[in-house]
Amino acid sequence: MSDYSKLCIHTITTKPWDIWTAIEKYQAAGVGGITVWRQWLDGQDIEQVGQAIRAAGIEIVSLCRGGFFPASEQSDLDAAIADNELAIREAAALGAPMIVLVCGAVPGQSLGTSREQIIAGIRAVLPLAEQHGIKLAIEPLHPLYADDRSAINTMETANDVCDEINHPLVGIAADVYHIWWDPNLERELARTAAADRLFAFHICDWRTPTTDLLNDRGLMGEGCIDLSGIRQMVESHGFDGFHEVEVFSDRWWSKDQDEYLAAIQEAWRAYW
Ligand code: ZN
Repeated sequence: MSDYSKLCIHTITTKPWDIWTAIEKYQAAGVGGITVWRQWLDGQDIEQVGQAIRAAGIEIVSLCRGGFFPASEQSDLDAAIADNELAIREAAALGAPMIVLVCGAVPGQSLGTSREQIIAGIRAVLPLAEQHGIKLAIEPLHPLYADDRSAINTMETANDVCDEINHPLVGIAADVYHIWWDPNLERELARTAAADRLFAFHICDWRTPTTDLLNDRGLMGEGCIDLSGIRQMVESHGFDGFHEVEVFSDRWWSKDQDEYLAAIQEAWRAYW
């Protein structure tokens, strides 16, 4: 029997499946963990979803996602804080211990200004996160997303932001798709671990040629990322959490999702 106890799958990975189908299929496949994207909770009784996941023996790893703090108008800054507070309440209702933050950026606004707004936004929602004990994991995004998705583009910047906020509930979600190319990766992963803030580890692969910079991720082994090397770095610093398969892929979403789940498990066995 293969070991899928550290395998977590993001609901967006199997996008065609609604939350109930995902729970049933992941359970049947012996998948250990799930990261729930907020869209999967639309129109659902969130506490009931959380109970169903736990009843299936699956651990809820994260709620994905909050963030998008930067804005050029005050009303939009306020709306972002309100939405992140809503995400914290949703995580609490679901029983998720953590929210992944895609921090945001505004085209034409300096990245420095966006970073200041991100820090201010995280600080603003921290009291509610404390109240519910929800961790906030900053996910640095590849620089190609610096225009409108995140002004935090390296592990170093994410660590700098965490240092500045300096709060035990604020850490980092390291996603290989975004950080694999970084010459400072080893140093910054060590720094993240030393500060006890490596909250999450997301895996997938980078295909060549990549036909879509958002929706053409590969399964582990389908691309050029040194997954075993990065896994080794992460684990050498004591990370023993879930390895979360987060794959946006029009190619895979167009296929039979049962076959896709089997492919995820096959890729997992080669990875693990
Ligand atoms: Zn990710």
